[in-house]
Amino acid sequence: MHELPIAENILNIAVEHAERVGAKRVTTLHLVIGQLSSIVDDSIQFYWDIISRDTLCAGATLRFERIPATLLCLDCGHSYTLNRELIACPQCDSIRLKVTAGEEFRLESIEVETEEV
Ligand SMILES: [Zn+2]
Repeated sequence: MHELPIAENILNIAVEHAERVGAKRVTTLHLVIGQLSSIVDDSIQFYWDIISRDTLCAGATLRFERIPATLLCLDCGHSYTLNRELIACPQCDSIRLKVTAGEEFRLESIEVETEEV
């Protein structure tokens, strides 16, 4: 259920941006979700459709891009990309690992319409 505040946050940013540039409406939002993030696209979309209804973002499309996770081995310094599940360092077999990418969630860019069509 933590997708609601996230969707609200995205909406606030998008509306603020749209107003600043004098946009008539927001058409597309590009979101980046890390592979290890617990955020569910469908839930974001579900809340989005409800909360964006009476805003400049009504009808805007959400585009989700999943990015792979990257791990750093704390023993040998080897950095590698995660394919599916968590695996030990392929170089030294260590399990002392640090996630360096893949847990993020961010709003990458916003597309707006400035003229009435
Ligand atoms: Zn290693």
